[in-house]
Amino acid sequence: MIKTVNLNPKVVEFLKEPKKLYINGEWRESIEGNTFETINPATGEVLATVHEAREKDVDVAAEAAFNAFEGGEWPKISAYDRSRLMHKLADLMERDFEILAQLDTLDNGKSIKEMNSSDLPGAIENLRYFAGWTTKMTGQTIPVSESYFNYTRHEPVGVVGQIIPWNFPIMMALWKIAPAIATGCTVILKPAEQTPLSALYLAKLVEEAGFPKGVINIINGFGKTAGDALVKHPKVNKIAFTGSTLTGQSIMKEAANTMKRVTLELGGKSPNIILPDADLDKAIPGVFNGIMVNQGEVCCAGSRVFIPDDLFEEVVGKMKAYAEEVKLGNGLDQDTDMGPLVSERQFEVVTSYIEKGVEEGATLLVGGGQSGEGYFVSPTVFTDVDDNMTIAKEEIFGPVVVAMPYSSIDEVVERANASPYGLAAGLWTENLKNAHKISNKLKAGSIWVNCYNLTNAAVPFGGFKESGFGREMGSYALNNYTEVKSVWINL
Ligand code: NAD
Repeated sequence: MIKTVNLNPKVVEFLKEPKKLYINGEWRESIEGNTFETINPATGEVLATVHEAREKDVDVAAEAAFNAFEGGEWPKISAYDRSRLMHKLADLMERDFEILAQLDTLDNGKSIKEMNSSDLPGAIENLRYFAGWTTKMTGQTIPVSESYFNYTRHEPVGVVGQIIPWNFPIMMALWKIAPAIATGCTVILKPAEQTPLSALYLAKLVEEAGFPKGVINIINGFGKTAGDALVKHPKVNKIAFTGSTLTGQSIMKEAANTMKRVTLELGGKSPNIILPDADLDKAIPGVFNGIMVNQGEVCCAGSRVFIPDDLFEEVVGKMKAYAEEVKLGNGLDQDTDMGPLVSERQFEVVTSYIEKGVEEGATLLVGGGQSGEGYFVSPTVFTDVDDNMTIAKEEIFGPVVVAMPYSSIDEVVERANASPYGLAAGLWTENLKNAHKISNKLKAGSIWVNCYNLTNAAVPFGGFKESGFGREMGSYALNNYTEVKSVWINL
């Protein structure tokens, strides 16, 4: 039985309702009758049975999104009214804030503290930010010559398939949906199979807000079936994907067949560098939280911490002490700092990386997987790590950090950049000149100086190298969802 401690009664009610596919403004059962279960990772209990989209369901959703884009009401709605609808949806999310927060905590395991302070405010902020853009998108006028005049139009790309991971379910959904609908696209969102619930609740709010049918479709299902069908579908013009680099590579190859537009937000193995002049009182908790937030299940997590030789013992000693203070528990408990990992599978992945680290000769200073109910891994710090060890090279996607000493700035910059990934990097220094110089040298899409993991709807976010391409958020995200048309006028 689900432990209903602190649960909003509407969450309990919602969990009992059928979980269907939201297509063309209607709740539909999956055509072939497939379903799957979603699990509470804090307890291992089944939360709900969810209808699973397969190829035929994706067909219906693509047709609906296509019709909504091509001949439906959506293109006729003014930019101002698109904005009003988006603000209405944001109002409803604020009204049902507690419900949405609890659903993600139940489904993903993350702490309610993080839902309340970060994920959900971030999701709503995105919706309101892009609602502000609908009326502000313009083109250029180009006075080519006396005889010719040209202007550009930024037109919505069409039907967008959006595929998201499980680590920030509601926030990722809004990072994707908001810029797409702001530009006038229509959307088919496929949440991760591990965390279907908050997106389904969002669909109820989309319905209540009064979006025209087919503009936002939400279909739960698996990557290899529903995700793949979206990527292959000829009526889907673009895929916006967040997930692992491996999946991103296969999507990019497949999308080439229909020349779909693709944006990819992928994995990372981000360096977080303490410089010799850092304020350690800020830097040590900074690098610790830089990896441990959200159980380390963060694409931009600072999973490689670089520490000056002579500060190494002091810094790792304090990181160990912080690790021992973290309160693990059910995310619904207000005192919980860190919840369980999202699934049994993720628990196995992370704990096998920890075993590999020990096998390859690193020292497990603190942490490791916990036995018993739920998929808990304690904050884990490794020392005596070589750059070539598996735990120093591969993305673990759990609360596991490698702490490594360095002796010069040139050396640390080279080692920081020696990764196929390039999503983010952190720098801790009191020297402004160094902060700028080193930021310029680091090959990553986000650089945080004396802070880490900050995002904002107005600030672009995305990767260099194998961390993907395209940018979420900020005005940059609008380019992901528009085609530029130039119109020539013979004067
Ligand atoms: P994943 O790639 O396995 O799955 C992500 C999504 O893709 C899921 O919805 C899944 O169903 C779908 N999918 C899987 N295979 C597919 C296929 N062949 N075709 C279409 N869709 C498919 O990733 P994951 O393990 O669930 O998520 C963790 C990964 O996501 C990590 O690598 C992490 O770094 C990355 N991530 C990146 C960002 C970012 O903004 N850069 C943010 C969050 C997570």
